[in-house]
Amino acid sequence: MFGGRTLLIATKHKKEQVIAPTLEAVLRVVCITPQDFDSDQFGTFTGEIERTFDPITTARKKCEWAMEKYQVDLAIASEGSFGPHPEAFMVPANEERLLLLDHKYNLEITAVTLTTKTNFNGAEVTNREALTTFAKQALFPSHALILRKSKNNADELIKGITNWDDLHRHFDDYRNKYGKAYVETDMRAMFNPTRMQVIEQTTQKLLQKIQSQCPQCHTPGFDVTQVIKGLPCAFCGLPTTSVLSLIKTCKACSHQQTEKYPQGKTTEDPMFCGVCNP
Ligand SMILES: [Zn+2]
Ligand SMILES: [Zn+2]
Repeated sequence: MFGGRTLLIATKHKKEQVIAPTLEAVLRVVCITPQDFDSDQFGTFTGEIERTFDPITTARKKCEWAMEKYQVDLAIASEGSFGPHPEAFMVPANEERLLLLDHKYNLEITAVTLTTKTNFNGAEVTNREALTTFAKQALFPSHALILRKSKNNADELIKGITNWDDLHRHFDDYRNKYGKAYVETDMRAMFNPTRMQVIEQTTQKLLQKIQSQCPQCHTPGFDVTQVIKGLPCAFCGLPTTSVLSLIKTCKACSHQQTEKYPQGKTTEDPMFCGVCNP
């Protein structure tokens, strides 16, 4: 289905470095990355251009826009978001999504990674000591930093700082003018090796999903569409909130398959039972 086809990687920040090799090797596609593709029109992390859609919609729009512009029928886009972990408040997390769009076979396949492995951070600093402490914690200079006048201010903004001289020089500038600066991690992939690794992991996941075929019609992307909770408690037998089964659905022929006990156990430890251990 994919062999020999051109796959456009709709990305700007060198993400093709981790996306292309795997896909070319396994799917036998020929990856291209247009040098003039400007993904910033779909929003930036630093707030100069607001993001107006959810990550998957944005990724789909990037693909569609690039497919139209460069006349290809197969594209991939990525979209990262950063913020507190949805289940562990105050712990920073990175959610990375990849979306493959295939107009020839009418397919959309997505993969997501949610991880706390990120240096995502920001702080207001008034002196060089605080700046140094922040920078070291943020894995600077292997990971770039951004300086601005104040938090969320997009007017005076220096991105992609990768050495101590520049960091000190720009910081001194801000401090002389405003008495402080806001320093934050640069999350653009090419400036953030930790994020690049997460994109690579997500590419592996996407590849697994592409290779997962419908047992009936062999369309790629046979994937989980529903998670059913209610694994019975080993002591009282009542349903818990743990996963009982997964339902996979084919997007082409709607064939469904239920996978029972995906975690490899048929009962849940009473420790996680709302009745035995409220
Ligand atoms: Zn099918
Ligand atoms: Zn119980």
